[in-house]
Amino acid sequence: MSDIDKLLRDDLRGHSPYGAPQLDVAVRLNTNENPHPPPAELVADLAARVSEAARSMNRYPDRDVVALRTELAAYLSIATGQLLDVEHVWAANGSNEILQQLLQAFGGPGRQALGFDPTYSMHSLICLSTGTGYLSMPRLPGFRLEPEAAALVVREHAPDVVFLCSPNNPTGTAVDLDVVEAVYAAARGIVVVDEAYAEFSTRPSAVTLLPDRDRLVVTRTMSKAFAFAGGRLGYLAAAPSVVQALQLVRLPYHLSALSQAAASAALAHADEVLATVRDVMLQRDRLVTEIRGLGLDVVDSDANFVLFGEFGDQAATWQGLLDRGVLVRDVGIPGWLRVTAGTEAENTAFLDALRQGLQEVSERERMAP
Ligand code: PMP
Repeated sequence: MSDIDKLLRDDLRGHSPYGAPQLDVAVRLNTNENPHPPPAELVADLAARVSEAARSMNRYPDRDVVALRTELAAYLSIATGQLLDVEHVWAANGSNEILQQLLQAFGGPGRQALGFDPTYSMHSLICLSTGTGYLSMPRLPGFRLEPEAAALVVREHAPDVVFLCSPNNPTGTAVDLDVVEAVYAAARGIVVVDEAYAEFSTRPSAVTLLPDRDRLVVTRTMSKAFAFAGGRLGYLAAAPSVVQALQLVRLPYHLSALSQAAASAALAHADEVLATVRDVMLQRDRLVTEIRGLGLDVVDSDANFVLFGEFGDQAATWQGLLDRGVLVRDVGIPGWLRVTAGTEAENTAFLDALRQGLQEVSERERMAP
């Protein structure tokens, strides 16, 4: 054990960092980004706004991010049909930072969060870094959740924080609002619905359940549908008292003036950017149909990715695809891999590589004695 390992917090020793490989390959379908770059008008507007913000960079930015939160509230009100204003919305550097602030405020040493696995790996990793215990609960067959069963485990364990992820990463499955209602009724603590992929789903948002549910929090991101992963902007909708609680743990001036200006520009062009979502959804449905056509299983997806399998050795299939220039994600579920819906050309390249890989395996098996 190195000297630094000895000094590291006991609960962090031996853990690996979050690590989706960032490899320089032709077709990257492993981190669920929007494959369409932002439109030229947005890029120009963003550059102008960032340049304007740079004029006063000798000053700290608006600590409470009021202008951007107001714009986010307006977007979310239109997208979900639930009227929200600035005091219901909080923003940070990606929804990962939002999740971290939630656990800093409502989790922490001696407290526990509960999630239904497989789910987004950062939920448990941020629990680890904030000293929050993590209770991993299984899903029903087909990676589903049902209201009664989910409520039962929540009531039994009485965690301080419950995570529901809908649509869920990495399975793509979404929950109906009756699951959120049942879990909320059974929970004594904060219920976080992670809606990072909500724009790719036609189901109603948990934002519509916020009235009279002060412990409910819905997190969102501009990294996916908004084609803004590089801009790092995540946000949440919740009761004003939750937003106030997060102001106790956020670092002062956490969201730079440049981030605020850039995100504001992206929101001003929401209609053009979100027009790509339809195409991504069509490509996702194409992936589901064509992968099934190859004789594999695919989980029905409400997101911009699909989970497919089952492979005897998914790591070998992952490597085979990479050798053909296509990067997908091995999310650690034995037998399964996850692929992000890319452009039409990227998906064709992926499907060709998968077909070739499967042919090679069946030829090898035929030749085996
Ligand atoms: N939630 C889920 C379910 C995700 O898949 C991701 C990104 N992969 C995030 C949150 C975090 O995204 P970001 O920090 O870019 O907003």
